[in-house]
Amino acid sequence: MVHVKIVVDHIKDTPVSLHIDEPVVAFPLLAGMQNDKSCCITGNIQGDITVTREYENIRVTGRITAPLTLTCSRCLADYPSFVDTSFTIFFRKGDPITSSAEEELELGEMDLLSSAYSGDEIDLTHEIEEQVAMEIPLKPLCSDSCKGLCHECGTDLNTFSCSCSKEPVILTFSALKDFKVTRK
Ligand SMILES: [Zn+2]
Ligand SMILES: [Zn+2]
Repeated sequence: MVHVKIVVDHIKDTPVSLHIDEPVVAFPLLAGMQNDKSCCITGNIQGDITVTREYENIRVTGRITAPLTLTCSRCLADYPSFVDTSFTIFFRKGDPITSSAEEELELGEMDLLSSAYSGDEIDLTHEIEEQVAMEIPLKPLCSDSCKGLCHECGTDLNTFSCSCSKEPVILTFSALKDFKVTRK
């Protein structure tokens, strides 16, 4: 299993750059989403990360991209898309359990994601996959103006028009009762 790791002692006064180019299987959270079909990542997770030391703490800034296939929630068409996200994570040295609520608040005000590290390594795998997962839309739209499928006949209204009622259909229970799938 590949891990994107920082060895803290290797970060001296000058920032260190890392290039990431890893398959989805290197990221357990994303691989899981891929398996249960909640996302479809079509290539490697790529990115560039800069690691800077600030006394005992480590600041990680980066940009991560990943190609995706999304399924439009209105017309159900698959379309290519991508995640492109930039982030900053501030790693404080110390045990996450001992960090006080006050500290959290301070860092929150700085508008930074913060995390704690202990030992001499920081594993960025989970942070990177969370950044990608957060950017995957829950209700993808192939376009803001997607007309979707006709509620009555299922025609893709982006490419065809149909002769069904142009009134907006409200699918209440009584409407469903009168719904006929086959017509002669
Ligand atoms: Zn659509
Ligand atoms: Zn129709």
